[in-house]
Amino acid sequence: MSLPHGIKSVEQLPVEGKRVFVRVDYNVPLEKGTKRVTDDARIRATLPTLKNLIERGARIVLGSHLGRPDGQVKPELSLEPVAHKLAELIGQEVSLADEPVGDGARKVVSDLRDGQIAMLENLRWNPGEEANDEAFARQLASYCDIYVNDAFGTAHRAHASTAGMVKFVGEKGAGFVMAKEIDFLTRLLGNVDRPYVAVLGGAKVSDKIEVLDALLDRVDSLVIGGAMANTFLEAQGKNVGKSKVEKDKLPVARNFLRKAVEKKKTVHLPTDVMVGSGLDDTNPVAVRVDQIGGEQMALDIGPGTVELYRRVLTEARTVFWNGPMGVFEKKQWANGTVSIAQALADNKLALTVVGGGDSAAAIAQAGLADKVSHVSTGGGASLEFVQGLDLPGIAALRP
Ligand code: ADP
Ligand code: MG
Repeated sequence: MSLPHGIKSVEQLPVEGKRVFVRVDYNVPLEKGTKRVTDDARIRATLPTLKNLIERGARIVLGSHLGRPDGQVKPELSLEPVAHKLAELIGQEVSLADEPVGDGARKVVSDLRDGQIAMLENLRWNPGEEANDEAFARQLASYCDIYVNDAFGTAHRAHASTAGMVKFVGEKGAGFVMAKEIDFLTRLLGNVDRPYVAVLGGAKVSDKIEVLDALLDRVDSLVIGGAMANTFLEAQGKNVGKSKVEKDKLPVARNFLRKAVEKKKTVHLPTDVMVGSGLDDTNPVAVRVDQIGGEQMALDIGPGTVELYRRVLTEARTVFWNGPMGVFEKKQWANGTVSIAQALADNKLALTVVGGGDSAAAIAQAGLADKVSHVSTGGGASLEFVQGLDLPGIAALRP
C-alpha cells in the first residue's frame, strides 16, 4: 500500500533488533468490578501490525491511554486487564511496566529481547501526555529507535505519544490500522467517482456543522436524518412538535440550506418521520413532516424517506455516512438507520465509508460492517479527516 506524502507503512521500516514504540488505541470498555475487557475489537485490530513486527524480530514497546485519569495515577484505569487480553490473543507474554515513564518503564524496555512485547502503563496517568509536554515526550522517545502509530482514533489529538515524541525518534511510520484509515479516507478527498453522496445524521447540528460545510463543497448531494434533521425541518418553517431541536442553530441551518442552493447542491431532508410520545413508546407511527402533532417526537425517518434515500444511495458511486438516522439504540426506532446501512451494503459499485462512533456501532449492530468498503475506527478523527483538516498524529508521520 502506498500512502500519501511519503508516509511509510510499518512493513517498510527496518525493525530487526530495534526497539519499536507502537502507539495503539487500547481504550477499551472494561466490566465494572471484574475489570474484564468486554470488547476486544481494538486490541484485535492491532494484531497484524504486532505480528509483522514480531516476525521481523522487533522489540515492541506499546503505549496507549485508557479512560480519563486526567494526569493522575488511577489504579482502576490500569492497562493490566488489557495486557492480559493481548497476551491471550497474541499467544505470548506481555510485560507491563508499572508506570508510563520512569525507572520501572526503562527496566521493562531494556529487558526486551527480539520479538518480545512490553507495555507502558496508561499514558494519561502522566499529565505530560495530554499537555504534549516536551520532557515527557523525550522520555517516551528514549525507549525506542523507531516510532509506529496504529491509533487512528487519537490522531486528531496533539499529545506526547501521538505527536510530540515523534520528532525525537529517527524512523517513523503507520501501522496497518492507521494505513488503512489513511488510504480510504484520503480517497474521499481526491477525485472520487460520482455521484458522491454524504449521509449525515446523529444528535446535533452544532457537532457537525463544520463537517456539513466542508462536505457541501465536495459532494453532489447530502442526505440528512436523525435529530439533526428536525432542526433543518424547523428552519424550513415546519412544526416538529416535541422533537429534539437546537433552537439556537436555526439560523445556521437556514444559512446552510441557502448556501446549498447557491452551490447547486441537493440537500435531501425527511419527507416523513416515525413519531411517538417519547423514546420508550413502542408504537411508532409514520407521519408526513408537515403533520407532526404538537405532542409528538420524531425519533426515526419514515418509510417514504427510507425509499427516497435508498434510491439516492443506489445511484451513488461514493458514499460517506456519519450519524444514525434515528434513535437506533432502541429497536422500534432503528429501522431508518438499519435501512441506510443495508442500502450502503447493497451498493457494490460504490466506495462506501462509514465514520463516527455511533454510526460504526450501528452498522456493526446491523451485522453489515464487513459489507461496506471501510468502517473507520475513529469517531472525531474521521470527521476531522473528511473535512480536509491536517491531523497532528498523521502530520507527525510525514518525512
Ligand atoms: P456519531 O457518533 O456516529 O457521530 P452522533 O453522536 O452525532 O453520531 O449521534 C448519535 C446519537 O443521535 C444516537 O445516540 C442517537 O440515539 C441520536 N439520535 C439520532 N436520531 C435522533 C432523534 N431523532 N432524536 C433524538 N436522538 C436521536
Ligand atoms: Mg456519537
